[in-house]
Amino acid sequence: MPIKVPNNLPAIETLTKENVFVMTDTRAMTQDIRPLQILILNLMPTKVETETQLTRLLGNTPLQVELELLQTSTHKATNISEEHMIAFYKTFSQIKHKNYDGMIITGAPVELMDFEEVDYWDELCEIMEWSKRHVHSTFHICWGAQAGLYYHYGIKKHILPKKLSGVYKHNLDYKNGMLFRGFDDEFYVPHSRNTTVNREDIEAVPGLKIIASSEEAGVYAIKSENDRQIFITGHSEYDADTLMKEYIRDKNAGINPEIPCNYFPDDDDTKEPTVKWRSCANLLYSNWLNYFVYQTTQYDITQIEDASLDAMIHDNNDIDLKVAKFGGTSLADAEQFKKCAAIIEAEKERRYVVVSAPGKRRENDVKVTDLLIECADKNKAEAEEVLPKLMSRYKVLVRGLGVDVDIDKEFEKITEALGKPAKRDYIISRGEYLNAKIMSALTGMDFVDAEGTIFLDENGIYDEEKTKAVLGKVLKEHERAVIPGFYGTMPDGSIKTFSRGGSDITGAIVAAVAGADIYENWTDVSGFYMVDPRVVANPLSVPVITYKELRELSYMGASVLHEDTIFPVVKVEIPINIRNTNRPEDNGTLIVKNADYFQSGFSVSGISGKKGYSTIAIEKPRFNEQPQLRADLLDIFAYNGVTIKNILSGIDSVTVVVRDEFFQDIEEQLVAEIEEKIAPTSVSITHDLAMIAIVGRELSTSPAIAVKVLGALANRKINIKLIDHGSEKISMMLGVDEADYVSSIEALYTEFTRL
Ligand code: ADP
Ligand code: ASP
Ligand code: MG
Repeated sequence: MPIKVPNNLPAIETLTKENVFVMTDTRAMTQDIRPLQILILNLMPTKVETETQLTRLLGNTPLQVELELLQTSTHKATNISEEHMIAFYKTFSQIKHKNYDGMIITGAPVELMDFEEVDYWDELCEIMEWSKRHVHSTFHICWGAQAGLYYHYGIKKHILPKKLSGVYKHNLDYKNGMLFRGFDDEFYVPHSRNTTVNREDIEAVPGLKIIASSEEAGVYAIKSENDRQIFITGHSEYDADTLMKEYIRDKNAGINPEIPCNYFPDDDDTKEPTVKWRSCANLLYSNWLNYFVYQTTQYDITQIEDASLDAMIHDNNDIDLKVAKFGGTSLADAEQFKKCAAIIEAEKERRYVVVSAPGKRRENDVKVTDLLIECADKNKAEAEEVLPKLMSRYKVLVRGLGVDVDIDKEFEKITEALGKPAKRDYIISRGEYLNAKIMSALTGMDFVDAEGTIFLDENGIYDEEKTKAVLGKVLKEHERAVIPGFYGTMPDGSIKTFSRGGSDITGAIVAAVAGADIYENWTDVSGFYMVDPRVVANPLSVPVITYKELRELSYMGASVLHEDTIFPVVKVEIPINIRNTNRPEDNGTLIVKNADYFQSGFSVSGISGKKGYSTIAIEKPRFNEQPQLRADLLDIFAYNGVTIKNILSGIDSVTVVVRDEFFQDIEEQLVAEIEEKIAPTSVSITHDLAMIAIVGRELSTSPAIAVKVLGALANRKINIKLIDHGSEKISMMLGVDEADYVSSIEALYTEFTRL
């Protein structure tokens, strides 16, 4: 336990330097106390003995500990009754949504096998991966330590010439550490194993530190730099007679074992062994519990995950290359540009940068891309009137940043293109082009144009193969580069812009081609909010969502990321991190393939929606029994270029949901065609519908979510016009009157964020 002393006592400084844990009055008063949640993954065959040994050690501190036992489900314990396992042990699927302050992974009698040969290896890897985010500190013992070092750091184990069995003398490699606080210069630990890990292999990993070892038994204790993983190769938890029992077991099995070293008095196996390690064992476990678990874990256990997320995004040794895309508001003026440059400078891994065009500087401002579209769509004379506005915006920017970019010259080229329909996309793309030039001048990064490196096919679809070949090669030639977003090159060499917000796609393309470890998307909000912040003020942001959830949400109006952003990165599983340029200290939202291990505080990930839908309800007896009719109906929509949002089928009816913008002008014609081909009893059309998507990966398994959705809207007396479940089973779609849109979103948000 820490020693509590009055604030400012002179002894604090001296003792703190000696690493004695001193707690001041203030900290003691503000330190909330709760039982520690500790999980033991017991892989030992002698389950009860190991349970008892570890419980004894964990119980030997004044800290309150709540213990849970975990077993693997891929391997059934054979030496113990099933009743015992059922009564006391949980499986991974039962606990994986929880967080723990500490976890112990025990040894296992499988050390002579390759790791991959062990029948529960895959499950253990999953548990170890999970532990990085769900456990504050994990303590690996013996084979558990070898498995952890191998899985997390690729360190191999090696077979020893003969079994190491006995009680060996140890010394500290690192004397000021907390794990061995209070230890004597020499101490004893039992070892019992046929394999070992090499000191050089561990020393070659920058994130690991050897803290104790033995001349005879080799490396004993290792910890990760962030203190969250401890690897112990010996068995300090052993009882007085455990080594003896193992010795007798091996003897009876005819293995002819050597007498355990330094264990029986006079090496006489008829004499009672002398225990030389018990006090050290007690100290080791209480030090771990106190300093590595209790003092450093989060009081709010759900925050363990946030802290882990933080480590994943910020201090992750595995991240060598980041692609950072900055959006329009992040580049709206010189001040914003400087923030981006500071973010780029802050991490050397941010080697490729993708930029949008300058966005709005304030509420009623106009985006540069909108001005460029205006120029491109007007005749030359009219466009020349808009151009000075644009030019002065860039001049102010360049002057504010003190960079040398010849704006006059660049605008001469744009002026030449005015009034030429073939140059429309070229003109519109100049917003990002100029920003990339300016960012390159500001940061000293090379400028790599998207023209001639990012390719589209004759239909304007992203040409992945060609881009990979050309851009891949070009990026290799540039250690650090800025690439303009939003456009690519057509097969005829002309420039083609993406749909609005398309710089997000360029960022994803660059991330995929460069093989980035993470794609950072810097914008003006701290992540993906559960609802549109323009509908509900200050909504909560979601720490982690999946690619699929993001796609559903952005398709249905959550406009923070372009809905097609995920395609280039999904295949190569690059996580996307939405970040706030104005608050770089926030973690934002991480978008990943699999978020199973992330406990979302709430049962849905987000709610998004759009106005501007219509429904066409067609009645015809036994419609659902006539597949040809359904095919004909789909043909009519396809032929008229009307994209269908949803189809809801009844027995004698079908309802088609479409966006107004596709439908408005051809409504009468479409109805006439339906009447002619389908011969329905009636066709009725409803306008002014808003569609709302409730998205969450738990939707498929939790029917309570649907009940909550309906309840929340019923309470506000909102009439639901239609309900549909997405085929991905992660979303539920509702149609309401446009007039009820805002109050529906508010009601749902309130319902799902209520604690
Ligand atoms: P950028 O210019 O950085 O590309 P965008 O304007 O394209 O930025 O996207 C960020 C904006 O998206 C936010 O300012 C916010 O108003 C809007 N937005 C809509 N829905 C959401 C949501 N669910 N979460 C966060 N932001 C959202
Ligand atoms: N500048 C473009 C737009 O406003 C692309 C982007 O910002 O992503 O749509
Ligand atoms: Mg955007």
